[in-house]
Amino acid sequence: MANKYQLETIPVWDGIKSQSECFICDLMQQAEKDSLEFFLGSSVMNPETRVRVNATGFCPEHTAKLVESGHPNSMAVMWETHLERTRDELQKVFKDLENGKNLKKTVANLDEVLGQREKGCLICQRMRDRLDRYCFTIPYIWGQDPEFRKAFSESKGFCLHHMTHILRMSLDALDAKQQKLFSQAMADLQQRRLDLNAKDLVYMIEHYKSENRDKPWNGCEDAQIRAVYREIGKGRCIR
Ligand SMILES: [Zn+2]
Ligand SMILES: [Zn+2]
Repeated sequence: MANKYQLETIPVWDGIKSQSECFICDLMQQAEKDSLEFFLGSSVMNPETRVRVNATGFCPEHTAKLVESGHPNSMAVMWETHLERTRDELQKVFKDLENGKNLKKTVANLDEVLGQREKGCLICQRMRDRLDRYCFTIPYIWGQDPEFRKAFSESKGFCLHHMTHILRMSLDALDAKQQKLFSQAMADLQQRRLDLNAKDLVYMIEHYKSENRDKPWNGCEDAQIRAVYREIGKGRCIR
């Protein structure tokens, strides 16, 4: 049976051995960086990319990251045509505003135009494609390779959002019997990691009490950061 997704064996093996709190978060932050560079690089002059940028555009979060990333020239070129299309789409709304009739409907139309303009995101799309491949590869190799199963259970696990996506992908990557074993291995790993997050938070709170100030940190200096990102994840694609 042909795989539904291209395997990403090397980044997944490197990630599982990296002892990161969620290596999928790391890979997604890299995917976001690569995508920002792609759209601000030479692709800006490519007519096909321009058409896609004008039609689909970017979500507000990624538009902000694009404009803040220090490529004013590329951004100006890209945004000139984007703005032109936005202005075209607002022509009717402005006419209705000038007429001042049925303002409730006009405001709703304005909302609708802006909502459509911000709905798609080429960067989120590219990130999502990579995410699918990474999250498919994890259960796939897990099903094939005992070495990987060991590395998986010795890893620091995943944020809850990426855990969800990996489990979703395991339904495509594994047969029914292995799906069950994989879900058990995931539950074991993740519950151990969440227990540790909880314990580290308690230790941190105790450590901030004046009587404990001189005690060692025991690696809990960043317990609140690890606990927060365990829940919300970093580098998520929004759309
Ligand atoms: Zn994550
Ligand atoms: Zn986006």
